[in-house]
Amino acid sequence: MGPKYIPAQSLEEALDTLDRQGDKTRVLAGGTDVMVAMRTHRMECGTVPEFLLDISALPELKEIHFKDNQVSIGGAVPFRVLESHPEIQKKWPLLARASSRIGSPQVRQLATLGGNVGSASPAGDGITPLVALSAEALVRSARGSRRVPVEDLITSPGNNALAVDELIVSFFLKAPPQPEACFFDKIMRRQAVAIARMNLAVQLALDASGKISAAQIAAGAIFPRPGRLTEVEQLLLGQKPDEKLFAVAGEKAAGMMLKVSGQRSSMDYKAPALKKLVAWGLKQAVRKDFLKQE
Ligand SMILES: Cc1cc2nc3c(=O)[nH]c(=O)nc-3n(C[C@H](O)[C@H](O)[C@H](O)COP(=O)(O)OP(=O)(O)OC[C@H]3O[C@@H](n4cnc5c(N)ncnc54)[C@H](O)[C@@H]3O)c2cc1C
Repeated sequence: MGPKYIPAQSLEEALDTLDRQGDKTRVLAGGTDVMVAMRTHRMECGTVPEFLLDISALPELKEIHFKDNQVSIGGAVPFRVLESHPEIQKKWPLLARASSRIGSPQVRQLATLGGNVGSASPAGDGITPLVALSAEALVRSARGSRRVPVEDLITSPGNNALAVDELIVSFFLKAPPQPEACFFDKIMRRQAVAIARMNLAVQLALDASGKISAAQIAAGAIFPRPGRLTEVEQLLLGQKPDEKLFAVAGEKAAGMMLKVSGQRSSMDYKAPALKKLVAWGLKQAVRKDFLKQE
């Protein structure tokens, strides 16, 4: 028999359900990961949850609020909304672009930002821009609430740091000073609906003299969880952008990947691919900013 479906009518009711039976319940947002996982598990080992708690209609999780230079995005906002929202496109183009690269239009209609973080894939295309932009998540349970950097919510491939009674209610992002100086892309096996082999999110800012004054760079699928390329960020700060610098940045990124993930057979492909992707991404981010100033 399948799990009992519970359509949550309010946030309080959802949190109460998780408080009482979170260990037997799977939260359901868009279902694009949960339903696939349940099918596979059912066939393989029969680990189907007792309850499916549908949070996709809760208003608090569907809202987008702008205040000053910040946005809060509900945990159950689908990528289709994020890719097409004019204000997100204007102030957080990195997130809008990454959202537009997820799955197909049908998948993006259902798939949510909270679900992407909940699934904790090292290749999550919604996670990398959040990590680059230092986003925080508001996590709630019947016990209370906490704000956590998104980077800390992912612990290892497929595992998040949420307790069984916790829900991601929203994400908080500050607007970068030069939104257009950004880049997102991913490398995958084929161009259609495929999981990224590697993805990269870059957000830069340049000062009046043309030097890099802010660098926020995150990569997915090169570490066990999406993470910042801190050594690359430090290398870039205060430097004038040029191709030689970006090539060194690519080398540094590959070095970081090897240090964290170790030398494995996939590195023969991944190291040169990452070098090129980082150098290309930085060039694109800078070029966009220059173009905008012209
Ligand atoms: C054909 C196809 C193509 C895909 N392409 C991509 C792609 O290009 N890039 C990519 O990154 N992913 C891709 N995915 C994976 C998937 O679509 C994303 O991970 C998506 O963001 C999951 O969101 P969802 O709302 O469907 O999550 P669900 O499947 O509903 O949930 C996923 C997990 O998160 C938990 N969860 C959901 N919402 C919350 C919340 N608010 N608080 C706490 N936990 C929560 C659930 O319990 C579950 O464990 C693809 C999937 C399919 C089927």
